[in-house]
Amino acid sequence: MQLFTVIFLSFVAASVLVRLWLSQRQVNHIRAHYAQVPAAFADKITLEDHHRAADYSCANLRQGRITLAWETLWLLLWTIGGGINLIDQWWSGLEYGVLVTGIAVIFSLLLISSILDLPFSLYHTFVIEERFGFNQTTWKTWLLDLVKLALLVIALGTPLLAVILWLMDQAGANWWLYAWLVWMSFSLIMIWAYPAFIAPLFNKFSPLQDATLRTRIENLLRRCDFQSQGVFVVDGSRRSSHGNAYFTGFGRNKRIVFFDTLLESLSEDEVEAILAHELGHFKRNHIKKSLLLSGVISLAGFALLAWLMSSPWFYSSLGVATPSIHGALLLFMMVMPVFTYFVSPLFSALSRKHEFEADEFAHSNSNYKALISALVSLYRDNASTLTPDPIHSMFYDSHPPATIRIDHLETIAAGGSSG
Ligand SMILES: [Zn+2]
Repeated sequence: MQLFTVIFLSFVAASVLVRLWLSQRQVNHIRAHYAQVPAAFADKITLEDHHRAADYSCANLRQGRITLAWETLWLLLWTIGGGINLIDQWWSGLEYGVLVTGIAVIFSLLLISSILDLPFSLYHTFVIEERFGFNQTTWKTWLLDLVKLALLVIALGTPLLAVILWLMDQAGANWWLYAWLVWMSFSLIMIWAYPAFIAPLFNKFSPLQDATLRTRIENLLRRCDFQSQGVFVVDGSRRSSHGNAYFTGFGRNKRIVFFDTLLESLSEDEVEAILAHELGHFKRNHIKKSLLLSGVISLAGFALLAWLMSSPWFYSSLGVATPSIHGALLLFMMVMPVFTYFVSPLFSALSRKHEFEADEFAHSNSNYKALISALVSLYRDNASTLTPDPIHSMFYDSHPPATIRIDHLETIAAGGSSG
């Protein structure tokens, strides 16, 4: 067995073990706190809601473990099992040239993988979400979404892939620098185009109607000196009763989007506080920082890919007999997540730091008590657990656990440290 095969298999084994260990810790922690609502929430969350959140979390964790086993099996079959090699040999035999062969191999694999993942997505939507009363999707909407997504991936992915493969093949030793520029431009265009052109393919966005709420929101936006296309309401309730609010686009194309489900369950004070939190992300430059970080990481990624592409061991140790540009790209995309999994806690920590900063901004610019009650409603309505395992949370959570987040808000309100 080659050295890199051993390294790859060791990382696969280690990441599977860590994932299962974290999942089991989370289940144990939730079960251990099943009997009682945490003291801080005793008067806000009923025991029934608490149990529902625990059961929902455990159902998702269980599906997560089954999905992990399935995905790991396929990762091994595609690579050292010779799956990529088989598809590659078949398309290469047809002699369509570098670009067409590359695009055909990558899309074939994408298609098969998507079909293999479908049962899990179906089970999640129509069994788990259904059982806990979240699912609002009909079969028709679900199928239509799938078709639209597939067409979108083909329409946007084909030209992008063609340009990148062409640069890998033709642009010489510095191809990775040009490919990175193409990738970054593509990402920026997507962020700009998403709210105006892509999201409306799936949902209906309408300007916020409620006049008093709109006036309050416009005042807040003016107070925070925020230029945008305004506040929109999205018909999220067509698919799910999970609620959310987010901020999208950049430049003048910025929008604030509220799920209709969220507006139904929150008071005006709460909506304003949530909006202030979202504005905090913008005002503290979180969007720019994340973009810069992903730019640096993708540059390193392309440089690494350039080196791996010219290393024969990279192909042979992962089950691919003939080196090719599309083979390198495909293996890179499949194998990298096994290694990057171990640095993912750093990104979760950064995200949680940003959440604290956005909460601090919301505290200075709106009513923090309304933010706390909005958060409690969100936790309750989304059946998020209030008692996560600390290590599981440290690894995965993009948002701080409820108790810590609310404590933080109370501490800054009391004039304590704002760290
Ligand atoms: Zn946030």
